Amino acid sequence: MSAPADRKWRPETRLVHAGTLRSSFNETSEALFLTQGYVYENAATAEARFKGESPGFQYSRFSNPTVTMFEQRMAALEGAQAARATATGMAAVTVALMGQLKAGDHIVAAKALFGSCRYIVEDFLPRYGIPCTLVDGADLDQWRKAVRPNTKTFFIESPTNPTLDVIDIAAVAKIAHDGGATLVVDNVFATPLFQSPLALGADCVVYSATKHIDGQGRCLGGVVLGSEEFIQNNVQTLIRQTGPSLSPFNAWVLLKGLETLTVRVREQTRSAAIVADTLAGHPKVTRVIYPGRADHPQAELVKRQMSGASNLIAFDVAGGKAGAFRFQDALRLVRISNNLGDAKSLITHPATTTHQRLTPDQRAELGIGEGLVRLSVGLEHVDDIVEDLVAALAAV
Ligand SMILES: *Cc1c(COP(=O)(O)O)cnc(C)c1O
Repeated sequence: MSAPADRKWRPETRLVHAGTLRSSFNETSEALFLTQGYVYENAATAEARFKGESPGFQYSRFSNPTVTMFEQRMAALEGAQAARATATGMAAVTVALMGQLKAGDHIVAAKALFGSCRYIVEDFLPRYGIPCTLVDGADLDQWRKAVRPNTKTFFIESPTNPTLDVIDIAAVAKIAHDGGATLVVDNVFATPLFQSPLALGADCVVYSATKHIDGQGRCLGGVVLGSEEFIQNNVQTLIRQTGPSLSPFNAWVLLKGLETLTVRVREQTRSAAIVADTLAGHPKVTRVIYPGRADHPQAELVKRQMSGASNLIAFDVAGGKAGAFRFQDALRLVRISNNLGDAKSLITHPATTTHQRLTPDQRAELGIGEGLVRLSVGLEHVDDIVEDLVAALAAV
């Protein structure tokens, strides 16, 4: 197996070449190593491998060449020293947090989180003696006041789901570090192309690779990235011993997805900007939230922290829940689905789907009204997307 020489490639190039390991057949495309284990030349090699004295693969719960290629390509894209792949985005979040925490520690998280992430910090970790303080992520004073002597880590997502609020990653990282804590950032909505949390001071970045990295609605996957030290201390052993591992087949699909990530996400983002402007001028739309627009509440921070706005738009449809439902049901091209980052344009009504577990008060606090929908703009022709949205709005 050989890896190409490490060069200072631009992201587009890294996404096509970085991490490639070629077998003795010198295949062009990355090979799919659908194997559970590896055979050793002799007993002494097996012993050395288990002692960590001989490099090489042992068992696909914790290392597999196809998974390694995906991890190395992700690390090269993110500018991280190390990466570990997981079976899903939620496994990545769980591993990144649980790997650092033990009973008696404390975590601070922003309130606005992907539904399952909020479950992890609010319901799951406290069961193991790890209390959580939820704060308004944009309010730096709340972060400062939430720090306790036993605070071990901060957890945020930015832009947030579904209201696309942006959190000042550098400022929150500084507060975390001043308090002796780390910062973990769920970077799904920004994508690795448009925001680099590690460069802004975060200690760990997590992705659901299910979203833009696959980008074609096929496989679940996740990845945790950070310094060699962070991954070795917090992530590697937990994955090895508990097994939330990515399958080689899914790693192969995601690896091939990375090759086209820039082309897909840039095109989707170009279309999203046009869609957002169209929606903003429509009488049946009462509010549009898109980080690429000058009227985004944190437009200045977006400019400072992100190099693009991504393909997600949130907007309020006139007429509350009834209006939002009529609108969704009248769509012919855009499909109703809670997924995002797909080649197909997808729309969801967070109050009745992804965020239905929250109380109406909790939703109101997050700005998730009854008329709010979240649109993930796909790869269809932008004129077809706009025509579908405008025709469906006429039904409201
Ligand atoms: C989808 C998503 C997750 C969870 O990822 P899965 O692959 O579905 O487990 C976590 N965070 C964010 C922001 C997401 O969009």
